[in-house]
Amino acid sequence: MATISAMLHNLSPKKVLAAADPLLVKMYGQRPWRRHGDGVEVLVRTILSQSTNEIGGDAAYEKLRRCWPTWDGLADAPPSVVARVIRIGGLARLKAGYICGALRKIRAERGQIDLEFLASLPLEEATGYLRQFDGVGPKTADCVLSFAFHMPTFPVDTHIFLIARRLTVIPRGTSLEQAHEMLTGLIAPARRYAMHKLLIEHGRQLCLARHPHCGRCLLLEICPTGQRHEGISTRKPGVRQLVRRRRRRTVDGEQPGDRAKT
Ligand code: SF4
Repeated sequence: MATISAMLHNLSPKKVLAAADPLLVKMYGQRPWRRHGDGVEVLVRTILSQSTNEIGGDAAYEKLRRCWPTWDGLADAPPSVVARVIRIGGLARLKAGYICGALRKIRAERGQIDLEFLASLPLEEATGYLRQFDGVGPKTADCVLSFAFHMPTFPVDTHIFLIARRLTVIPRGTSLEQAHEMLTGLIAPARRYAMHKLLIEHGRQLCLARHPHCGRCLLLEICPTGQRHEGISTRKPGVRQLVRRRRRRTVDGEQPGDRAKT
């Protein structure tokens, strides 16, 4: 389906995202892949990060590991006790049940709590294995496979979903789950990890949910929402010149994310 962006700029959603990639790199730098932890660690961290911010998720993980330094110890702990320890991350009872349940199941099936075998599985099979656990949806499975095993998945969180809607690369009414499938297909496998990281950074620094800083955003040229926000008529010719003129007004030497960082 043609989107507004495609009509306005003659660019397909795929090309809009391809055009956004180097602009995001210019704003935030390259995001080379790094291993975030082994498979079990990333699984537990990702479950803890659900529906909370990074600080709450990290704090809950640190507390969890201080109380149970071994995965076996955590698997054998009563979920009600685990829930008290991870309360800081929110949805504690649910998450404690998901984590203890997944660890016990991995141990029962594999003889030990280790997910390194996933590295040798095809992507779909590895995804299917993780999705069998309660509390593991497409985003959590994608995070584990990307961050621990460098598989070409594209986890879609609320930041990415919002930016994709603002860039109009997904049609109105698209659900998060549908967006995940669409966006994965629109981004080259080799760029999925970097684009995930860059878009999240962009959502935190400039493309804020309530007040996006469109005047300082390099994506303005390809973003119909930003152009409307800045009062630039996308129907008039010369939109690029207007965008450039606005950008020249920004203080010399100021980087797009500088103000948001303070
Ligand atoms: S122009 Fe505005 S709405 Fe568009 S991506 Fe940039 S900050 Fe977000």
